[in-house]
Amino acid sequence: MGATEPLVYLRAQLATGRNLDILTEASLKHPFSGLRESPERIEGALYAAEVTDALLDERQAAPELFDLLLSTLYLLEGAAPPSVVVRRFEAQALDAAGYTPELRRCVVCRAGRPQDRSAVFCASLGGILCSRCRGGREDLIPASAACLKALEELSRLPAHAVAAFRIPPGEDARVRSILRAHLEHHVERQIRSSAP
Ligand SMILES: [Zn+2]
Repeated sequence: MGATEPLVYLRAQLATGRNLDILTEASLKHPFSGLRESPERIEGALYAAEVTDALLDERQAAPELFDLLLSTLYLLEGAAPPSVVVRRFEAQALDAAGYTPELRRCVVCRAGRPQDRSAVFCASLGGILCSRCRGGREDLIPASAACLKALEELSRLPAHAVAAFRIPPGEDARVRSILRAHLEHHVERQIRSSAP
């Protein structure tokens, strides 16, 4: 398999060219061939790669995001549920890029949210809003206490715990739309790849 196929982990040596760099040497570290056996897993991997690209500028070193992308690809190649792997990736990529959503306090007046209370999430403000501050806004996503708890857990979830983690039944769609809306707000474009 060619070292320059998409979703291949390689060590590359590049010579600086006038417009584009020239690949002078490449050694394959891991081909991630297991991803190609499942449409859902390859879809998740392509999505994670697109999001990583969208969060970074050219030639910007981002070791934390790189490690997260790599652990995501290894998890997708394994037995963990692809949707949980991708939600964890989104939550932790936002943290690594400095866009951690505010889930504990109203993003406008800073009033604390009681642990068991639901809220609404506003992607353009990057956090939850209390009942007084939400008036008149349209870009709101309802977020139950269980949904907010799942979002917080995903942002801290270590790779070894992903296989056993479950997003509470009925909350998956909201967890997904909150992360996606928040991400797209920060990268200022729509992510084209679909995600599991
Ligand atoms: Zn408020």
